[in-house]
Amino acid sequence: MNTGLFGLGGKVAIVTGGNGGIGLGMAQGLADAGADIAVVGRNETKSDAAVAELEARGVRAISVAADVTDKDAVAAMVERTVRDFGRIDILVNNAGINIRKPPQELDITEWESVIRTNLTSAFLCSQAAYPVMKAAGGGKIINIGSMLSIFGASFAPAYAASKGGIVQFTRSCAVAWAADNIQVNAVLPGWIDTDLTRRAREQIAGLHDKVLGRTPAARWGASADFAGIAVFLASRASDFVTGTTIPVDGGFSVMG
Ligand code: NDP
Repeated sequence: MNTGLFGLGGKVAIVTGGNGGIGLGMAQGLADAGADIAVVGRNETKSDAAVAELEARGVRAISVAADVTDKDAVAAMVERTVRDFGRIDILVNNAGINIRKPPQELDITEWESVIRTNLTSAFLCSQAAYPVMKAAGGGKIINIGSMLSIFGASFAPAYAASKGGIVQFTRSCAVAWAADNIQVNAVLPGWIDTDLTRRAREQIAGLHDKVLGRTPAARWGASADFAGIAVFLASRASDFVTGTTIPVDGGFSVMG
């Protein structure tokens, strides 16, 4: 069992949106470090494929069908994970969507859908996992922000509001739960090649080249770029790291 500084042998992780993109990249990293994984998403076909892929890495994995905006579904997600695996050590709040419109065109239903999926879900999942982590003597929560936690964009008012909110929610939980030995941090991805940004590239002319020109690393990120940060923030290597936001962006956020 991998119990070294970055080892996650015997640990259990819930990854929301773990059936594809950045979530799957993180789940793969956590699995390679030894953690068992509960993959949470609405699309069961995608989740079943992710489970098979994770099991092939030698860990246990389950698919939990849940809409993370639904409080009862989130409670059931936590119950199922504890029933199957006996514990929850790591929660990755990664599920997210975007609806790309300028503020004057976004209707209230669209606003609420983005805020609920990206921000309220992190609140619901963290609140549901907290008592399990506290009773076990600690845990790790990793929230997913964005470059739009820092910057504005004309086409993403609700998305940017949700991702700015994720940073402050992260800090609040970090302070509230430090005494329970629960570390809460946020990862801010740059532009990563996933289903989400494939749609963005279809909708926003010139986006692909703009990202390349604006990213010092001169490439789009890949889901696999998130394996290492997930392992660091989930392992005892980060036990004195809490409330922080770590860009994984090829230098996007530091380019003047
Ligand atoms: P994907 O579209 O590939 O993945 C989004 C995931 O969220 C899917 O697994 C989806 O699963 C899940 N999901 C969405 N809504 C719900 C819901 N209501 N309940 C449960 N699961 C849900 O996108 P990415 O991998 O790109 O995005 C992952 C996270 O990273 C998001 O929070 C996104 O905002 C953030 N991010 C991405 C960036 C990028 O460049 N790609 C940049 C910055 C941040 P299912 O469809 O099965 O429900």
